[in-house]
Amino acid sequence: MAIPGKVLLTEKEIKKKVRDLAKKVSFDYKREEVIMVGVLKGAFVFLSDLMRVVKFPVKVDFMAVKSYRGTETTGKAKILLDLREEIKGKNVLIVEDIVDTGITLNTVKKILEKRRPKTLKICALLDKRGRRREKVKLDYVGITIPNKYVVGYGLDFEDKYRNLPYVALLKDG
Ligand code: 5GP
Repeated sequence: MAIPGKVLLTEKEIKKKVRDLAKKVSFDYKREEVIMVGVLKGAFVFLSDLMRVVKFPVKVDFMAVKSYRGTETTGKAKILLDLREEIKGKNVLIVEDIVDTGITLNTVKKILEKRRPKTLKICALLDKRGRRREKVKLDYVGITIPNKYVVGYGLDFEDKYRNLPYVALLKDG
């Protein structure tokens, strides 16, 4: 059985990263309204912290996608839950907990681009850059982490551990 082991990011460290990211995005958007799009399920914890420290008016919406990796060389992903907000002509910030192969974010970005938002950017808390299979431009990144499976702060293992206030590696227990 896999359980949370070594802590990679403490609650305090995460808080600081979120504040630093909020400063950057707040500077860039000035006082313009932004629709934050959380990619479910993992991003809801990060999004809820980020939205409370930014300095611009925020609307929130969510998407859920399922990525297929399998034997294909290029991944595909399917929309399970779509936005309720119209994003045409709006500032959209995709908020993601972790970027791994890049397939999920690329899919979300392509779908949203077609709806012609005014701006479309990506903010990810964790980046597993070493595992990237698809190139994806991350406008804001919290921290690059090693190629290990992590849980906590929204991230799950078999849908558990999302509620941990820190990010930890998984270990055999
Ligand atoms: P990608 O499409 O970039 O490969 O994968 C992104 C999604 O895979 C994330 O939104 C997340 O749901 C999941 N994922 C990737 N790496 C990890 C990890 O280390 N831990 C957890 N819990 N989920 C991960």
